[in-house]
Amino acid sequence: MRKLSEVLRDWEAVIGLEVHTELTTLETKMFCGCRISHDDEPNANVCPVCLGLPGALPVPNERAIESIVMAGLATNCEVMRRSMFYRKHYFYPDMAKNFQTTQGPVAFVMHGHLDLEVPADRADERPTWASVAADGATPIERAADGSYVAPIRILRIHMEEDAAKMVHVGGAEGRIGGATESLIDYNRCGTPLIELVTEPDLRTPEEARLFMEKLRETFLALGISDCSLEHGSMRCDGNVSLRRRGESSLGTKSELKNLNSFKSLHDALAYEICRQAEVLEAGGVVLQETRHWEPSRRRTVVMRVKETADDYRFFPDPDLAPFDLTDEFVERCRARMPELPDAKRERFASQWGLTRRDAGRLAGDPDLARLFEGAAAQLRPQEVPTLANVLINLAPSFGALTMLQLVSITELLFRDALTFAQAREVLGIVNGTDQMPIVVAGDRGLLQSTDTDALGAIVDEVLARCTDQARQYRDGNRKVLGFLVGQCMRASEGAGNPKLFNQLLVERLG
Ligand SMILES: [Zn+2]
Repeated sequence: MRKLSEVLRDWEAVIGLEVHTELTTLETKMFCGCRISHDDEPNANVCPVCLGLPGALPVPNERAIESIVMAGLATNCEVMRRSMFYRKHYFYPDMAKNFQTTQGPVAFVMHGHLDLEVPADRADERPTWASVAADGATPIERAADGSYVAPIRILRIHMEEDAAKMVHVGGAEGRIGGATESLIDYNRCGTPLIELVTEPDLRTPEEARLFMEKLRETFLALGISDCSLEHGSMRCDGNVSLRRRGESSLGTKSELKNLNSFKSLHDALAYEICRQAEVLEAGGVVLQETRHWEPSRRRTVVMRVKETADDYRFFPDPDLAPFDLTDEFVERCRARMPELPDAKRERFASQWGLTRRDAGRLAGDPDLARLFEGAAAQLRPQEVPTLANVLINLAPSFGALTMLQLVSITELLFRDALTFAQAREVLGIVNGTDQMPIVVAGDRGLLQSTDTDALGAIVDEVLARCTDQARQYRDGNRKVLGFLVGQCMRASEGAGNPKLFNQLLVERLG
């Protein structure tokens, strides 16, 4: 197969995503009062409603509808004032009602968009000729460094319920084929899910990955889900088709499943683009099929070929009245909106003088952002960029540092009392304890003195002793400065700060 960069020179990839997010931060399920928890004993959190017993009536969870409206507001969607729930029928034991409750043609929120900022180091997959956005109107202008912004339209976000979890026992790799028993856990059944569907506006695997990252950051900031790709509370399917450069009609798309990490999402799309190009260039046709990504073998394989549309006998759920969302309800959701990652990034950058990249790293993770703001409040403004550096480059290797420890290590680094390597050593010792870095560094003799009076006395002593070198320096031989700094370091038994010695020597010799 040809490389992705070559393929994308000749072909345009048209990519859309469907992202399912479980509203894990809610306490109860979508249509009943059962607790949402994945850790409980199987089938502990069930009732007649989520088990689909005859006569049980669903009651919608208002908090879940607030969550989806907030997700819509955060993605610039229109809130649809009237929508309703539909029944999507299928027969499978993971849904005891024999239908899934979902939404029909009108979802709670629709027609949104996100502006996707593609940084320079992730911008090269998009060929330079693709300079108009997928809406056909917006020109894509590249900054001098090659970065660009691509507007990605969102078709809709609708509400549905999750199915039960099935475990197949006795076969290989937990698959149903060859299993002797299948176990069903209805704890997950009825958990509220929101499904976001994009328009096919993404053009490269990297854009798809960035979009998913941005969506995850946004939903995390809203606090509506723990957004774990690893544990499946956020799941993504991708669809992709190719068309020749300059064409406007769409090719046949394949749908990709099992994209359970950002890397899988990117790599599966990249593989699929190259595979389709090979098929088309050999004169073949791309089949409309669902394919499964195999990360270990780095390829997609066919799961099923779609020849006819599935018939789910879709119709409005007679047990659930249509929803009329009032202005008051929407305004209440708006009032609950937190600061979103983009706004937070701009604020961090301008308030503390951070690079947009560093500010974005901190703003994208709500826990990290909270820690940063808490620690920054205890530091002087000029120390805050050092704090950002600590949080981005040092702290992630440890994981159990307290805010006070972060403040202390930042102060030590800022006044050059420790090198970065020494700071790493100290953090390794205090991690998971309540010891303070300044105490540990002092006990281990790591602290470099920055007391200018004490260091000044050492400098004076060295200059009184090394008169020859002092004269050579004054005569223009700047190289002897290194020798003099070395003498000072030795006289202080390594406890002085070399930068300060250097500075004090220059002052006295000048
Ligand atoms: Zn229930």
